[in-house]
Amino acid sequence: KQRTFAMLKPDIVDKMGQVLKLIIQNGFKITKLKMVQMTKEHALEFYAEHKSKPFLPFLIEYMTSGPVIAMELLADNGVAKWRELLGPTDSEQARKDAPGSIRARFGIDKSFNAAHGSDSCTAAERELYIFFPTSRIA
Ligand code: ATP
Repeated sequence: KQRTFAMLKPDIVDKMGQVLKLIIQNGFKITKLKMVQMTKEHALEFYAEHKSKPFLPFLIEYMTSGPVIAMELLADNGVAKWRELLGPTDSEQARKDAPGSIRARFGIDKSFNAAHGSDSCTAAERELYIFFPTSRIA
């Protein structure tokens, strides 16, 4: 089994029941979960790889507009499996190419795309550590 980091973006947190049901139905185990309000500093650290992108300020604004749901998901081939269930980055594209995917069903466009998923095991470990540093009760 492989773990990955998943995050429901602020505007779909009110649909978390439906999304969690889909995640479980697709064979993932939700091994950690928390609702948190990111600060701008947290969001900038999380999206460090996008620091030169023109959409970064907009992305930071979006990701700090309300609380997010952060999760550790476990499944066989979990990183790729979660990216597959998410669908393409652009929700409009997702509705054409992957109509059953989370981004197709819950996202709006390439900016408001419902959820995040790590793109590699290395990214997953980094992102999980940002949201779930080692705690006394693990
Ligand atoms: P994520 O990293 O969130 O899982 P991704 O890897 O599919 O998404 P990236 O290219 O890493 O996509 O972009 C990170 C996030 O930045 C996207 O999820 C989206 O919210 C936002 N984003 C990406 N491209 C654009 C764009 N052209 N305009 C506005 N926002 C964008």
